Amino acid sequence: MEVLDYRSSSYLGKAVKVGAGVQFLEAYPFAQSKGLVVVGGNCPTVGIAGGYSQGAGHGTFASRFGLAADQVLEWEVVTADGKLLTSTPEKNKDLYWALSGGGGGTYAVAVSLTVKAYPDAKTTAATFSFFSSGVSQETYYGAVGTYIANAIPLTNAGAVSTFLLSNTSCSVAPILSMNMSKAEMDALVQPTIDVLKKAGIAYSKILHWDV
Ligand SMILES: Cc1cc2nc3c(=O)[nH]c(=O)nc-3n(C[C@H](O)[C@H](O)[C@H](O)COP(=O)(O)OP(=O)(O)OC[C@H]3O[C@@H](n4cnc5c(N)ncnc54)[C@H](O)[C@@H]3O)c2cc1C
Repeated sequence: MEVLDYRSSSYLGKAVKVGAGVQFLEAYPFAQSKGLVVVGGNCPTVGIAGGYSQGAGHGTFASRFGLAADQVLEWEVVTADGKLLTSTPEKNKDLYWALSGGGGGTYAVAVSLTVKAYPDAKTTAATFSFFSSGVSQETYYGAVGTYIANAIPLTNAGAVSTFLLSNTSCSVAPILSMNMSKAEMDALVQPTIDVLKKAGIAYSKILHWDV
């Protein structure tokens, strides 16, 4: 892993170059130790240069910075004819666009990946759950619909909201955003809480973390 000052016709700024074996459990702390963040997924065991970025890659900073494939500045690859090539939006660009979301293991063997890196910043996370006990399924799923509709303004504000749904509970965990205060996040969650209160639906207190 290496931090670069990257300059191209489409990007000027910090970048992180990683070898293909690097997992997010290594890339996240490395970037953080340099005051930076890289865009990754929810699971630390996923490989940054493998199926994640090649498969488009969605994660906690996607609303703010875009998908993983949007972060790629450069792929260093070996093609089926044994050539070591660098592909960028300007150089071997057909390969660059194919690899950036075209699916892992499809076009070439990635040796390294260079991605955009952003200044680290305070990140707020929140979580809450609500339950179907004591209300009809119609009322419960009405509240689920409210939460999903309210995820749109959350997303537009730069947050990513992840949830696990069953016919008895909806666990919203986490909502996560960079550069958003607890108060701003609460205001975005409040329309859902108001519906839960009005419908008499049991819910857990919103918990926050600032990281
Ligand atoms: C617990 C868990 C949580 C996840 N969370 C998220 C998430 O939040 N967001 C998200 O977008 N995805 C997520 N995923 C999906 C994950 O992005 C894909 O499974 C991805 O394909 C994993 O890539 P990998 O390289 O780590 O895995 P692998 O299984 O090693 O590889 C996947 C594919 O990529 C190919 N590949 C791997 N390395 C290379 C290389 N160097 N060159 C060329 N091809 C290569 C492989 O041949 C294979 O086809 C999650 C997966 C798991 C298991």
